[in-house]
Amino acid sequence: MIRPIIGYGHPTLRKIAQPIDKSYPDLQQLIADMYETMYAADGVGLAAPQIDLSIRLVVVGFRPYDEKTDTYGEPTEEHTLINPEILAFGEKKDYFNEGCLSVPDIHEDVLRPTTIRLRWYDEQWQLHEEDIDGLFARVAQHEVDHLDGKVFTDRLSPIRKTLIRRKLNDVINGKVRVAYRMKRR
Ligand code: ZN
Repeated sequence: MIRPIIGYGHPTLRKIAQPIDKSYPDLQQLIADMYETMYAADGVGLAAPQIDLSIRLVVVGFRPYDEKTDTYGEPTEEHTLINPEILAFGEKKDYFNEGCLSVPDIHEDVLRPTTIRLRWYDEQWQLHEEDIDGLFARVAQHEVDHLDGKVFTDRLSPIRKTLIRRKLNDVINGKVRVAYRMKRR
């Protein structure tokens, strides 16, 4: 089931999300819903707070895009992150153009470490502790920020923040049209 996504300005996006355990009700269905919601919105990552659930759960998925047909293929990589924790950041940083399903129409270069050491449980409750890089490391950092009540625009320079303020206000006021289901506060 596709769940509505909440937008910038909704208070749940500013809460510190709570860890979950195996007793969390209907967890497998929730995870399936999160993948469905993310892919329906053409996203590569979705954190539970974005569907108004303040818990530490994230899905990440990459699908090949075919420009000719404007369609996506089957996912080549998927990661369900339960209670993810960034244990260490690599020294090297770079910029990457980020967007967010909760902050539609805004894309900005964000400086982040290129590698992290990440610990998480997967959907089978297997514990992982891995050094990750590339797009997975980028998306994981963006999504863990959501669990800590942060959005990517918080990480922009003061001047960039000023420049996008009007666009952010449009998101807050529901003036931005999106192709997926969004829920106002
Ligand atoms: Zn986001």
